[in-house]
Parts: sequence; structure tokens; C-alpha cells
Amino acid sequence: MNHREIVIIGGGIIGAAIAYYTSRAGYEVTVLEKNALASGTSSKCDGNILAIDKDPGFDSQMSVVSQDLVKELTNELDIPFEYRNPGSILVCENEDEMEAAAKWVAQQQEAGLPFTMLDRNDLKNESKYFADDLHGGLECPTDATVNPYLLTYSLMEKAKQLGTTVITGTEVRNLETDIYNNFNISTSKGEFTAKKVINAAGVWAPHIGHMLGVDIPIKPRKGHIIVSSRQNPVGPRKVMEFGYLISKFGGERQVDEVTEKYGAALVFEPTESQNFLLGSSREFAGFNTTVNMEVIKCVARRAIRFYPSMKNMNIIRTYAGLRPWTSDHLPIVSKVDDIPGFYIAAGHEGDGISLAAVTGKVMAEMIQDQDDTIIPTEPLRLSRFKHAEVKT
Ligand SMILES: Cc1cc2nc3c(=O)[nH]c(=O)nc-3n(C[C@H](O)[C@H](O)[C@H](O)COP(=O)(O)OP(=O)(O)OC[C@H]3O[C@@H](n4cnc5c(N)ncnc54)[C@H](O)[C@@H]3O)c2cc1C
Repeated sequence: MNHREIVIIGGGIIGAAIAYYTSRAGYEVTVLEKNALASGTSSKCDGNILAIDKDPGFDSQMSVVSQDLVKELTNELDIPFEYRNPGSILVCENEDEMEAAAKWVAQQQEAGLPFTMLDRNDLKNESKYFADDLHGGLECPTDATVNPYLLTYSLMEKAKQLGTTVITGTEVRNLETDIYNNFNISTSKGEFTAKKVINAAGVWAPHIGHMLGVDIPIKPRKGHIIVSSRQNPVGPRKVMEFGYLISKFGGERQVDEVTEKYGAALVFEPTESQNFLLGSSREFAGFNTTVNMEVIKCVARRAIRFYPSMKNMNIIRTYAGLRPWTSDHLPIVSKVDDIPGFYIAAGHEGDGISLAAVTGKVMAEMIQDQDDTIIPTEPLRLSRFKHAEVKT
């Protein structure tokens, strides 16, 4: 019989981080992944480990904890994952945004984060490619960047050394519990049983939840990315427009109809190999990951607005991924009250790379029934949605 102590469903960055921290805590772990590792959202994204775009308070504090853990991972894991720690900046197009940015900085400073404002000159020193009419911005020096695909593999590789079994090409098709609170897991490659099951299936987590009659309010929120060819360095670190925050949290922006429709906002990320990634868009379009050229053009226009000479630079490819969205922009990292041994770690929307490490660590602590977890778990509980209506 294929009996396991812990089964993790999903081999994305969240499943990989949980596998690493739980096997490090001494558990016997098996990961079931329907395709290849990192074949879901974790390979169709950027690689930013950010605090700059998090709600001041619990959200940003949790991100800073994760940033520290990722720094530690550079020493703990064997496969390098292109970690760099250059900080990041948000740029403002007008004085209204500068005012809102100043408030954002004040709130973050109050929460103990080292945010500072930037003026026009600071931007000129940052990149000669910036448009002349930008007003300034703000900076978060603790922000980092990784290659998310490599980090997923690196975590999983270490987890394997610690005893984790990784089974790819294996789809979980049904889940049931028996009278002894064991789980019976039917997959495309046979039956397993387990004492505990962790649902780390990203945008597919609701599907896994339904197998046990659990409603998990996560929806796919599509995002497009453009990859440039290698060329002169445009800038040393991550840049976003301030409007990205408004787009993320659902506020109103002063942009044209198409930009608003696709939630397009500049996200610039230089990679270690001097390509750069340009994003991004936000829309509810089901599970379809086909690239829509209308959205790509919109993202490109937005980039050229901030970096006019990009109109003469070359791109090599485009892709789209599905962010696992929740209505309050926090992930669900939680036990399920009615089903002992069933846990959820999903719904990280655009922050799953940033929050993977803290998610893995806190899930390992929850499994051990530890009271003093690395971050408070109350805000991440599934039960916060019990009476909430899910709106998109
Ligand atoms: C355009 C874009 C840009 C982004 N940029 C950033 C960023 O800069 N920083 C950041 O922090 N986050 C970013 N994100 C978000 C981040 O990519 C996600 O939050 C993260 O990848 C989610 O990881 P996951 O492991 O939960 O999901 P996934 O990577 O999707 O993993 C879930 C896995 O579960 C598997 N699975 C599903 N159903 C089953 C089943 N029945 N049986 C077995 N396996 C199953 C899937 O195949 C998949 O591999 C971005 C996302 C997008 C789309």
C-alpha cells in the first residue's frame, strides 16, 4: 500500500517550499504533481520578492519575514536561483500619485519598513532611459529578485535530499477520508493513502477542495509578460509604476479604456542575464493562458510611456500565467476545521514567489501544531471567507 505521512498536491513554488520546510522538520513527505514541477503559474510569472507593493501592516510584515527566509535559503540550498537584492522602486506620473506615494511611504515607515521618497534627479540617476516628465517615486531597499523556476527546483532538490518523494505526471482525481481520518487519494497513477494532505494546487486548489466538499474562494487572474532580448542594461533593479498598486488593489486610475480594461501597469524586471521582463496585466479570463496580442500591445505601450526608447528594443517572447486570486489579496494558509489533517496553502495571487518561503515555514509549524508560529496565522485562515460573497 502507498501510505504516506504527508502528501502535498502541487509541485509549484508553494508545494516546493512546503516540501522543503516539512521534510526539514523531520516528516516523511510525498509531492504529487500532475505535470512537471513549476509547470503552473510558478513558471509563468516574474521573480520579485517584494514588500514595496504590499498593504502596510500584516501583508508587508509577512513579506519582510519571507525576504529574510529567502536570503537564508541562498545558504541552505545547493542549486543557485539567481538571487539578487538590489531593492525596487515605484515611479509616479503626476503630483496626485506623488501625494499618494508620500502617504504610502509614511504608512510603511510607521510599520517599521525602510521606505523612502525619490525625486526627479534620483530617477535620472537610476536610469538614463526614463521619460523626462516623471515626477519621482519611492524606494524599498530590502526588495529582492529570483528566478522562480530555479527556486522551485532548488527547494525541491533539497527536499528530496531530506527524504521527500516527488512524483510528477500524476494527477489527483479524487480524495476521500475514512473513519480513521486517513485520506484515500486516487490519482492517474494509482491509489495512495495519507495521514495529512496539503492542497498547494494554486488556481486549481478549489477543484481539489470540491473533492472533499470544501469551498475555496480562489479565482484565476490572468497576467501577460513580455521578455526582451539581451541588450544594454536599462536599469539595475525592479521598477513599477505607482498605478500598479491601484490596479492590484482595484482602485480607479487615470488611463485609457484599454489599459483600464486589461489592468495594464508597468512592471520592469531586469534578469541576471540582462534580458528584461515587462509586465503586466490583470484580468479575469477563466483558465485560458493563450497570449492575447491586444494585451501585449497595451503592456508594451505602457512600458514605452515610462521608457520611450524601448520602442527601438527587441523582444524575444511573450507568455501569460494565472494568478491565484483571493478577494482580500491574502493567501489561504490554513487547516480546514471540519476535516482533520486537511490543509490549504494557495491563493497567493501576484505574491506567491515573495511569500513561498514564509508559507512553507509556517505550514511546517502548523503541521506540528506549534503555537508560536513565525507569523500570525489568523489572517490567513480559510474560515475568514465563510460568510463572504466572492466577487470578481
Ligand atoms: C504574470 C505574473 C507575474 C507574477 N509575478 C510575480 C512576482 O514578481 N512575484 C511574486 O511573488 N509572484 C508573482 N506572481 C504570482 C506567482 O507566480 C504565484 O502566486 C505562484 O506562482 C503560485 O504558486 P503555486 O505553487 O501556488 O501555484 P502553481 O505554480 O500553479 O502550482 C500549482 C501546481 O499544482 C498542480 N496541480 C493542480 N491540480 C493538480 C492535481 N489535481 N493533481 C496534481 N497536481 C495538480 C499544477 O500542475 C501546478 O504545478 C506572478 C504571476 C503572474 C501570472
